[in-house]
Amino acid sequence: MNFRAGAGATLTHLENMHYYPFGMLMEGMGTNSPANDYTYNGKELNEDFGLNLSDYGARWYDAALGRWWSVDPLAEKYAGQGIYNFVANNPLYYIDPNGKEIWIWYQVSVTKEDGSTEMQDRKVQYKNGKLYSEDGGEYSGENEYVTQVASQINQLAQDDEEFACRISVLEKSENIHSIAMTDQWENPENITKPTNKENAAQNKPTGTNIFFNPTDEYGEGGKRHPRAALAHELLGHGYDYDQAETDWSKTKNGIRRAEVDAVNIENKARAAAKNPKRTDYSGKPIPKHMLHDTHKN
Ligand SMILES: [Zn+2]
Repeated sequence: MNFRAGAGATLTHLENMHYYPFGMLMEGMGTNSPANDYTYNGKELNEDFGLNLSDYGARWYDAALGRWWSVDPLAEKYAGQGIYNFVANNPLYYIDPNGKEIWIWYQVSVTKEDGSTEMQDRKVQYKNGKLYSEDGGEYSGENEYVTQVASQINQLAQDDEEFACRISVLEKSENIHSIAMTDQWENPENITKPTNKENAAQNKPTGTNIFFNPTDEYGEGGKRHPRAALAHELLGHGYDYDQAETDWSKTKNGIRRAEVDAVNIENKARAAAKNPKRTDYSGKPIPKHMLHDTHKN
């Protein structure tokens, strides 16, 4: 939240926006009124050319990447770190110095000094079947959402070799893939959103924000294991955005090919969970020849 000193002793409310730890704006949350360009960390956001860089004086910072756009003048002093890194890849605490990236977000209730409580966002990193806290230590908590999502990623890795391969690619990606619970207001359905829309539209790699409800047992086509939805979002769309392989073309009946690809991935998870094959997208039949042979019967 930013305030700026106004005339006299007044403070002008400038914005109440939510940011990911590296400063990427969480879309659809908060207010920014009146229009205010001094956003994350009070640095001026420059939207020229759709690049959305923040002016840190000597250098431009890209919040979507968590990287500088030019070399740190003091790079020689920190030879052990990449020269485009931001705060040693450490926006909150010491995040995994390798910074490779599947994160599961959850909320905790925190008691403040005045005795009131508030919900705060936390995240853990998923890597090689293990979970790590933001300080880099192994996560020992028992948050239900974290446990459910992690166990389902583990199961997907066991279900299928291609799944295991895609999970490993995402774990090692330069892009951040964040998984969070669906929410009542902005993202009630399982959905994957690219963190950088321009990159996504130009088929350049981007991270994703995935909203996933691990207790939702119904999808299009009836009852199915929630894991099938996670496969669709994370291993279908998430992987495609990461690898710049999102197919924006459409089938003859108007289904985006990226959705056909995600449904084919979903169907592998459906087969492993003994759920029926999905053959529709958004009420339209997927052309038969485009559906992979996932279900033997
Ligand atoms: Zn989809």
